Amino acid sequence: MPLQSRARHRTVPVTVGSVTIGGDAPVAVQSMTNTDTADAAATARQVAQLAEAGSELVRITVNSAAAAARVADIRRRLDALGIDTPLVGDFHFNGHRLLAEYPECAAALAKYRINPGNVGRGARGDEQFAAMIGIACKHDKPVRIGVNWGSLDQEMPGRLMDENARRPEPLPGNEIMHEALIRSALESAARAEQLGLPHDRIIISCKMSGVQDLIAVYRRLAERCDYPLHLGLTEAGMGSKGIIASTAALAVLLQEGIGDTIRISLTPEPGGDRTREVTVAQEILQSLELRAFSPVVVACPGCGRTSSSFFQRLAGEIDRHIQEQMPLWRQRYPGVERMTVAVMGCVVNGPGESRHADIGISLPGTGETPVAPVYIDGEKRVTLKGEGIASEFRNLVDEYVQRRYGR
Ligand code: SF4
Repeated sequence: MPLQSRARHRTVPVTVGSVTIGGDAPVAVQSMTNTDTADAAATARQVAQLAEAGSELVRITVNSAAAAARVADIRRRLDALGIDTPLVGDFHFNGHRLLAEYPECAAALAKYRINPGNVGRGARGDEQFAAMIGIACKHDKPVRIGVNWGSLDQEMPGRLMDENARRPEPLPGNEIMHEALIRSALESAARAEQLGLPHDRIIISCKMSGVQDLIAVYRRLAERCDYPLHLGLTEAGMGSKGIIASTAALAVLLQEGIGDTIRISLTPEPGGDRTREVTVAQEILQSLELRAFSPVVVACPGCGRTSSSFFQRLAGEIDRHIQEQMPLWRQRYPGVERMTVAVMGCVVNGPGESRHADIGISLPGTGETPVAPVYIDGEKRVTLKGEGIASEFRNLVDEYVQRRYGR
């Protein structure tokens, strides 16, 4: 299936700096820093790393006067590096004050994320929300109304619970919570529009930590609005648990055409690489054939028919080689990100899978003749043998890239 061709929930495109979210734009990848924003050097460095990994927008927390005071500096540092990735400011509790007191911060950010559950309660909350929307209008900035399960204004579920209790057949509690999130987002968006923020300056998110909850909420959101939807499982967790839970939730929604931008909220290991969340987001989109970011190495898992770990090492080596080359290849060989390379362990599935790939190698399994046929564009072209199989195959991949994708 061609990339990004399936039917999508129709949304109004929103321009965020150099990026469009929604409409016919490809699903955008976002990430968030975990540095102290008041440390401009460290934050700019991490934004640069995330941007280089492929994050198309990067969110930074703006939680204090010290942080707000450095946002413009972070922007300048990135501009000096030639990085135009839009910065999104994450505001809670004191956003109205920070945006008013630091106009350079308000101007430097490309979008504001406002959590309606954390802008204050009652009349004061309304005033503070209005103040932030007023600043967004003044600077012509889009806003993400970002509701979160963990910080939902309890007035809303309380009101809905009371209404539900009066029904002849009350709905289950989780449905009321879903509705509370959706209404909080949509009522806040409607209020922002009443305050003068244009319809096409609003993005919505309703993040939850349960996969089934998230799917249910976004399906209903998609039915009820045409704002672009920012998808992500909140507090997804560490390691494979976070990756799998995020993938399970987002794959279902994206397959149904729901979601205009995604962020994978992984908890990194101490000292771990923050860019992992970007790679995972890209891999989800590429696995669903919505976008292509990097060539795919198809490798079999190996089994009792493989006589050594040689093919695993070769698959790893090829994968690393591709990742190392990609910054250059991306510039020089447009389309290379859609290439598939197969590295297979024996004759059972090796030739077939290799034929389906753009270029593939079928290594010899236990008891097989120690030769490795290489298939290029579905045809067997050469048979490798001896000590140099790995380097010869790498050279063949390089030659293939130059020949097929060279301008
Ligand atoms: S291709 Fe061969 S080595 Fe790889 S998993 Fe299948 S049977 Fe095992």
